[in-house]
Amino acid sequence: NEIKPYANEPFTDFGKPENVEAMKEAIAKVKSELGRNYPLKVGGQKIETEAKITSVNPGNVDEVIGFVSKADREVAERAMQAALATFETWKKVPARERAEYLFKAARLMRERKHEFSALMLLESGKNYVEADVDTAEAIDFMEFYAREMIRLSTIDETMPLAKIPGEDNRLTYIPLGVGVVIPPWNFPLAICVGMTTAAIVSGNTVLLKPASTTPVIAHKFVEMMEEVGLPAGVINYIPGSGAEVGDFLTTHPKTRFVSFTGSKEVGLRINKLAADTAPGQIWIKRVVAEMGGKDGIVVDETADLDAAAAAIAASAFGFQGQKCSAGSRAIIVESVYDEVAERVVKLTEQLQIGLPELNFASGPVIDNVSYARILDYIEIGKSEGTLLTGGAKAPGNGYYIQPTVFGDVSPKARIMQEEIFGPVLALAKAKDWREAIDMYNDTEFGLTGSYFSADEDRIAEALETVHCGNLYVNRKCTGALVGVHPFGGFNMSGTDSKAGGYDYLLLFTQAKLTSRKA
Ligand code: GLU
Repeated sequence: NEIKPYANEPFTDFGKPENVEAMKEAIAKVKSELGRNYPLKVGGQKIETEAKITSVNPGNVDEVIGFVSKADREVAERAMQAALATFETWKKVPARERAEYLFKAARLMRERKHEFSALMLLESGKNYVEADVDTAEAIDFMEFYAREMIRLSTIDETMPLAKIPGEDNRLTYIPLGVGVVIPPWNFPLAICVGMTTAAIVSGNTVLLKPASTTPVIAHKFVEMMEEVGLPAGVINYIPGSGAEVGDFLTTHPKTRFVSFTGSKEVGLRINKLAADTAPGQIWIKRVVAEMGGKDGIVVDETADLDAAAAAIAASAFGFQGQKCSAGSRAIIVESVYDEVAERVVKLTEQLQIGLPELNFASGPVIDNVSYARILDYIEIGKSEGTLLTGGAKAPGNGYYIQPTVFGDVSPKARIMQEEIFGPVLALAKAKDWREAIDMYNDTEFGLTGSYFSADEDRIAEALETVHCGNLYVNRKCTGALVGVHPFGGFNMSGTDSKAGGYDYLLLFTQAKLTSRKA
């Protein structure tokens, strides 16, 4: 069976009424199933605990998405034992066979696309397009990593080692062991699926601790992996608190790697905890961390200003700015600053706020902790810049905040330096394009950035001097596509991993050289 070349999953066109109808039907179906109990999965066992995580709709907080059992240390230890035992058999399953589980799962998810998107929309507050893109990305990750594992397993043919007489030399990529996978809530399907399937297709077994705000969509993914016949114990599903289960597993002597996506603070904590060697531990744990960003868009005076303003608004406010790629800063050359600022404000004011299931452009932020933090930053912004629009809570039975723009913010202001992870945009003025790039680079992060210009020489220089992992020219700084824009950043944005890229699986494998005398 021939494998087709990799291609991105197309996005759904919600300009077509039949697609809107299909999504509405999926939402109705998911709504009829809300409020169920979801067990943990450890080895082949379902475990119900008394303690539960209650997952609620952030756009309508009276609506419970589901009650999810909650692991403690004792359950986490059982999960570790199950993952260790399963590793002994899973690591021997041929790469091609492991990849087949991902191909099958991708097909199934494609068939049930809107159902996945609908559940995600209700649990995380994404609108139709954002949820659809997330599901498409999840499918992409499975299709991409499956092919990548096949490529790695046949690398002796495509990239043979140098030959010397009298020896047969081979390099094979073997798995690491048991990994702890801690995905974020902001791409509750795509990143959860990407991190988990990259690890398992490489031959590892995992302890999946989904984000506590989006455990139900993660459960749906795990259930689907069971349906495609993935052996029990390869993915162990153990939602729980970071302080309890996360720390326990990060410091566990049998943990071989931790794959994390989330905030800088938690990433650094994991890195520190994982660096210690527990008694009985015989390896250095590997940490793959994708952390925050203070991403931005630089606009010079030669740029297409309409396109720049549209990209600034889209990058700042897509999914309420809750992306690590979100463009929460825009640095604009003085001579066009007023014009760009005015257009950005106009576009921002056109964003209607309301329930995700009714497909409003702007929905809620994820939970009360985020809500309070973002509102605090808005108050800080009021003392650091000029409030151009927004600046307050928005009505609704959930965590709604007005898309907010501050103007004339100084480069060292907190809202120019700290990741807010909400719908708050800071605009800053630079005297010329080089100063604008310096201001962009004045950050501890380095994830995504965009440079808007029509000047080829400047673009050429910007491509070298703008320091971030994903640098775009004349387009928004969100929306990386798997296989097309390998994604991950520099400095405090993480460990320089590239999700959806050709070197990603190397992070979950180790290379074994065998040399045999002929
Ligand atoms: N890959 C996403 C993008 O390019 C962002 C991922 C994240 O926010 O973690 O927009």
